[in-house]
Amino acid sequence: MTDVSANNQVSPALSVVIPVYNEEASLDELIQRCLGACGGISGTFEIILVDDGSTDRSSEMISAAAEAQMGKVIGVLLNRNYGQHAAVMAGLAQARGSIVVTLDADLQNPPEEIPALVAKIQEGFDVVGTVRRSRCDTLFRRAASAVINKAVQKATGVMMHDYGCMLRAYRRPVVDAMLQCPERNTFIPILANSFAHHTAEIEVSHAERPAGDSKYNVGKLISLQFDLLTCMTTFPLRLLSVLGTLIAALGLAFGGFLLILRLVYGATWAAEGVFTLFAILFIFIGAQFIAMGLLGEYIGRIYHDVRGRPRYFVERIVTPSLAR
Ligand code: UDP
Ligand code: MG
Repeated sequence: MTDVSANNQVSPALSVVIPVYNEEASLDELIQRCLGACGGISGTFEIILVDDGSTDRSSEMISAAAEAQMGKVIGVLLNRNYGQHAAVMAGLAQARGSIVVTLDADLQNPPEEIPALVAKIQEGFDVVGTVRRSRCDTLFRRAASAVINKAVQKATGVMMHDYGCMLRAYRRPVVDAMLQCPERNTFIPILANSFAHHTAEIEVSHAERPAGDSKYNVGKLISLQFDLLTCMTTFPLRLLSVLGTLIAALGLAFGGFLLILRLVYGATWAAEGVFTLFAILFIFIGAQFIAMGLLGEYIGRIYHDVRGRPRYFVERIVTPSLAR
């Protein structure tokens, strides 16, 4: 399944994109295992290693591997650290395969699972995700993931079970659509799903990190969660209006309740109007929230427009062929 692109270079069938940030300890093994796994698949392939501004020997090792494995390994070296998802985007921009697989460099996702992903996507899916069988991460990470996955399922309506695992396969049209999104902070699995029609999941194994530590500290993880949330929905802005309406309604109900009791029990019971003040305050607080929610509606629309995602993506145009 090779095709010839405009610049007359033969495009490979499969591109594997791997972000690398200070992973010198596992890099050699990673490249060997990826070459082995991809070699077993029919069709040509390229392995794109994106160095995300590593401060160890990763970038030299990537350059050396690209020299040694002519055409099979391609190095994309970023000038500084931009973060995992930006690095994957840089790799996607370079990838020419009609199927693209992304993978972490730390060997927690075994490269040996690549053929299974490719086989699944060839059944006709746009995106194939993975679920980590017996996940080897800390309890804190697993618990956080469980909450986030549930929230994403609710918000997007796409029933995928594990958004955190970057071992995934994408078809070319989905990759092209993602590359047309100029937004800066993004979360690739969710962005991909927003352009996918048929999605599937397979189970994969997950290993302990053989070397080095996770490149995510608590601060980076929190910022990633905000990327995830804002990449997916502007619903939190709308929540302001909902909250405001609720508070104002409660204020009104409280006011009505006070009025009735005041008529029944008299002025002394109502603490000379102090309670009434509370009711009025609630109504005003509610009104303020509604006003903020209204501003939020505009900000949400500005955000959508500034992000400039493609409104739709044409996969194919069918016209009657002239030759009969
Ligand atoms: N990574 C990256 N840039 C960063 C952080 C991470 O390219 O700023 C890469 C890292 O080298 C690895 C992948 O992203 O290939 C996932 O990182 P890690 O294994 O540390 O994350 P975890 O498994 O803890 O989620
Ligand atoms: Mg990892």
